[in-house]
Amino acid sequence: MLIVVGLSIKNLEPRVWDAQSPYYLPRVRAVMVSYAEFHRMPTRRLAAMDRGLHAYLGVPGSIKIYLDNGAFYFLTHNGEVSKKDYEEFVARARPDWWPIPQDYIPGPQMSVEEQERCLEKTMAMNLAYQADGYVPVIHISRVLDRYIMEAQAMSAMTNKTHIGLGGIVPNLLRAPKAMPYQHILDGLVQVRHLFKGKELHLFGVGGTATLHLAELLEIDSIDSSGWRNRAARGIVQLPGSGDRAVANLGNWRGRTPSQDEWEILRTCNCPACRLSGLDGLIASGLAGFCNRATHNLSVLLEEEVAVRVRLMDGSYSSWYADHLDNSICLTLVQQALARRLQTRESLDLGDLFARTEPVLMAHSSATALLGHRPQVGKVSLDIGHMRADDDALCEPQA
Ligand SMILES: [Zn+2]
Repeated sequence: MLIVVGLSIKNLEPRVWDAQSPYYLPRVRAVMVSYAEFHRMPTRRLAAMDRGLHAYLGVPGSIKIYLDNGAFYFLTHNGEVSKKDYEEFVARARPDWWPIPQDYIPGPQMSVEEQERCLEKTMAMNLAYQADGYVPVIHISRVLDRYIMEAQAMSAMTNKTHIGLGGIVPNLLRAPKAMPYQHILDGLVQVRHLFKGKELHLFGVGGTATLHLAELLEIDSIDSSGWRNRAARGIVQLPGSGDRAVANLGNWRGRTPSQDEWEILRTCNCPACRLSGLDGLIASGLAGFCNRATHNLSVLLEEEVAVRVRLMDGSYSSWYADHLDNSICLTLVQQALARRLQTRESLDLGDLFARTEPVLMAHSSATALLGHRPQVGKVSLDIGHMRADDDALCEPQA
């Protein structure tokens, strides 16, 4: 699964994609910038169009640039994007991946009728941009069934090789009337199944634990700006764990690392920790931010490799429970794993007569896992500057 690294054009440090930077992370293969930032800064928009995004950002051609349409920004600022301006930007700045100019994110606080209106506007946009490279977007919402029906009926969707999936984050935020986690997982499984063979990008869910969920559900790419948002608040991430506050910045209060966790940080082998150690992680100012951000992203990228390798070699089932340290997250991962097993089993059903017993045994193990319902507590997240992203759903915060 590709992790698309969310950047802010206001501050491109740490330059994790740049082989000349002390913060270089060779696993970075794609970055994302938001059109909302260019919309707010017209001079930069013009410069990016004049030079092309790769040259403007100093990102080599071997690294893909994803453009976010800024739908989350426009949603929260009651704005409409100018389609003409967005089209011009895509044509001249030449990102490698770009969605339709705007999608209308169904907020979890909305009524079903309001969510339907969002669907109608988003599907109209998908329809208007069917004959080109614009990636259609659908949302996981309470009207997902209608989304899927309309998307299937639309020839534009069948011709597209990529699909963007949004709406997950507001629901994971557990706003009033948010969908139960169970339904979100069901929706993701359904979409994956129906759009088999297409590359699915999940917007803005790039924390450590949601990474496990996305990988289990066979999503092709996700984007994250959480590595920066956390770093700015003095937070570092640990493999398989939630957030830990290491630098006392502003009003944010969080759980501090245990003795063992300080030790893990002390021996961390990421470029920032190799360069400046614990002093670097707890430092204030730009240097501290760069160290924490690089460390966070490195943890995320290494976690992705660990999950992928263990799913491939079959050791994931016996590994994740000890590796992930939070109960809510564990339960969600358990649910996703059970669905994965069930999906695999149903694919095997054609072969049922040849090996009835093993299939039924596997089925009953998956069913047993599904029977265990998650105990979901009240959680809250901070929202980043792009689409909000987080796995803090696994980290109940006071
Ligand atoms: Zn580190």
